Amino acid sequence: MEGRVIKSTGSWYVVQVGEEFIAARLKGKFKQSELKLTNPIAVGDWVTLEKEQNQETAVISDIHPRENYVIRKSTRKQHFSHIIASNLDQAMLVITMKNPRTSLGFIDRFLVSTESFRIPAILVVNKVDLMEGEDAEDWLLDIHEIYKPLGYQVMEVSALNDEDLIQKFKPFLQGKSTLIAGHSGVGKSTLLNRLVPKAAQSTKEISNYSAKGVHTTTFAELFPVEGGGDLIDTPGIKEFGILDVDDFELSHYFPEMRKYLGECKYNNCQHVNEPGCVVREKVEEGYIHPYRYQSYLNILNEEDSYR
Ligand code: GDP
Ligand code: ZN
Repeated sequence: MEGRVIKSTGSWYVVQVGEEFIAARLKGKFKQSELKLTNPIAVGDWVTLEKEQNQETAVISDIHPRENYVIRKSTRKQHFSHIIASNLDQAMLVITMKNPRTSLGFIDRFLVSTESFRIPAILVVNKVDLMEGEDAEDWLLDIHEIYKPLGYQVMEVSALNDEDLIQKFKPFLQGKSTLIAGHSGVGKSTLLNRLVPKAAQSTKEISNYSAKGVHTTTFAELFPVEGGGDLIDTPGIKEFGILDVDDFELSHYFPEMRKYLGECKYNNCQHVNEPGCVVREKVEEGYIHPYRYQSYLNILNEEDSYR
C-alpha cells in the first residue's frame, strides 16, 4: 500500500491510505540523503507500507523521494536537522498587526527560508477586525507595498469573524498541501478549527491512542480542509532553519536582489559596502525597499548557528 504520513510521534506514524488512517512503525534503517537528520520520516512524506499480521498496524518499508521539505536545526545535536514537513505546495505565514505584532524582520526571515526551500509563500493578515486608525492603515499599506511586487500573495482575514472564511481560502488551498506558520497568538488554531472539518480533527484521538505511553513533541500535523486540499500545522515552531546558505548566497533568496546579482562589480559582492555594488545602487534609487535591504543586512550579520 501507499499512503501519506499525517502525524509523527517519533516512534509511531499515522499514515493516511485512501480514507483510512493506519498506525505504522518503521522497520530497519533507512539510507538518508545529504542531510543529517534526527527523524527519518516526516509529516507529508509519501510511503510504502505493509499491514502487520494483526491487520491493524503496519510497517513502513519505503519512503518516496521528497519534492521539498522544511527543516529546523536541532538545538541539542549540532549539525543535525529535523524535517518538519515535506512535499509542500506552498507555505502560509499568518501575521497580525497587533496582539501580537508581527515584525517585518520576522516576515523577511520566513520568506528567506521558503525561498531557500523553493516553496511559494502567502502572507495571511489575520485579525483585520482589530485594525483601526492610521497606524493600522500604514502597517497594512507597507505589507501590500513591500511584498506584493515581490510576487507574494497577501490575504486579509478575520479568523474569528469572517463568515465566508472557507470560501475565501478555497481558491488558495484547493488541491494543495499548505504549511501554516506564524507567531503564537496570531490565530493559527482558530483558523485551523474553522477550515478543518470536525471529523478530521478527531483523527488526533486515533493517533494519540497509537502513541499511548510515549511522550513526544509533535512538530507538525496534516489535516484535510473543507473544500479540498490539506493544511500542515506546525505547533510551537516559530522559525524554520535556512538550508545551508552562505553569505554570498543570501541575496539569491531576496527576489528583488536576485535579478541584479550578475551586475555588481565583484562577483563575490555581499552588497554591504563594496565599490560598484548594483544592489546598493538599486536601494538608493528606490527599486529595492529599504526595509528589505535592512533585513538582508540583519540576517547577514547573524551568527551562522542561528540559520
Ligand atoms: P495561535 O497561537 O496562533 O494558535 O492563536 P489562537 O488561534 O489560539 O488565537 C489567539 C487569540 O487570538 C485567541 O484568543 C483568539 O480568539 C484570537 N483571535 C484569533 N483570530 C482572531 C481574529 O480574527 N480577530 C480577533 N479579534 N481575535 C482573534
Ligand atoms: Zn553588490
